[in-house]
Amino acid sequence: MSEARPAVVPERPAGPAPTVGAAADIADRAERRGVIARYAALLPITPATPALTLDEGDTPLIHAPRLADWVGVAELWVKFEGTNPTGSFKDRGMVVAVARAVEAGTRTLLCASTGNTAASAAAYAARAGVQAVVLLPGGRVAGAKIAQALAYGARAIAVDGGFDAALDAARALAADYPVALVNSVNPHRIAGQATAAYEICDALGGAPDVLALPVGNGGNITAYWAGFRRYRALGRTTALPSILGGQAAGAAPLVLGHPVAQPETIASAIRIGRPASWDSAVEAARESGGEFRAVADAAILDAYRAIATREGIFCEPSSAAGVAALRASVAAGRVGRASRAVCVCTGHGLKDPQFAPQLGADAPLVAPSAQALAAALGL
Ligand SMILES: *Cc1c(COP(=O)(O)O)cnc(C)c1O
Repeated sequence: MSEARPAVVPERPAGPAPTVGAAADIADRAERRGVIARYAALLPITPATPALTLDEGDTPLIHAPRLADWVGVAELWVKFEGTNPTGSFKDRGMVVAVARAVEAGTRTLLCASTGNTAASAAAYAARAGVQAVVLLPGGRVAGAKIAQALAYGARAIAVDGGFDAALDAARALAADYPVALVNSVNPHRIAGQATAAYEICDALGGAPDVLALPVGNGGNITAYWAGFRRYRALGRTTALPSILGGQAAGAAPLVLGHPVAQPETIASAIRIGRPASWDSAVEAARESGGEFRAVADAAILDAYRAIATREGIFCEPSSAAGVAALRASVAAGRVGRASRAVCVCTGHGLKDPQFAPQLGADAPLVAPSAQALAAALGL
């Protein structure tokens, strides 16, 4: 298989070859670059898997005391996934899914996407020297995400329908044609995304009391729960967190217990009415002692502003749904105020700046002099 490796895929970093399969030597992972090299022993890879990387993962876990006050918990950390190479957590799983697809000889990758999966698939396809085809719900994807996918050279197709219909079409196409589906129904995506749970445990010395995150298709909550359980089985954490899934009120099938035909929310990355990983998402919330919580768009935008203005972390609106849900769960008495919580901020704010303050509205035009500036600032 090794002669089939695309030339653009960088060599594995110097050092011992990662152990494949059984739990093993992950002690020196901090020196390795990218998810596959750092967590090789915990990923479904083989000796023939290309050492694909864009240096994804290893994202900051930021102590957020001022946001903790706003949310109402004693201790809060933000896992900022916006610093991944394409600006969202999707890169962690995509690198594994694309590497395995390339290993199997696939030349074309396919996904349906609300935007971030498309950007990530397109980037890793370019890196691996294969083609990405991305199906986007017509007119419903943040412009910067489409721009990303196109910039990386993906073929983008707008489908006449929402995300759920686009994913149905993608699954049907992949069943009959030689294309590899890289949506989160691909188990390699889930395995790669679980690395974020490992990083949190490594950084905190164990799992937090509560992990809050936005939930759309249900892949990421599935991945986190799998990751925490795996780490406990390896003895790297003794505790497990309660997992709190935030859903937008207009797109909250997991809160309602039934699919939503016309999901509506400003949080476009979680505008999903029929989550593909429904059962495993429900299991993660139930087994962990957590819950799903619906939050209104206004509460999502309040959290979005609080994260940025209190901590200097700019995430996209969808990313704020976990913080909004945590605040609501604390207010409802479902999460204790003494909790140590981690909120996952899933994507970067520059991807979807539509709801950030408009330039101009808050920036008065003044003469370029100290006197005019002092007058404008009330100094
Ligand atoms: C994909 C995505 C989500 C939702 O994750 P799921 O795995 O679909 O539940 C949340 N936020 C952002 C920014 C995303 O890109």
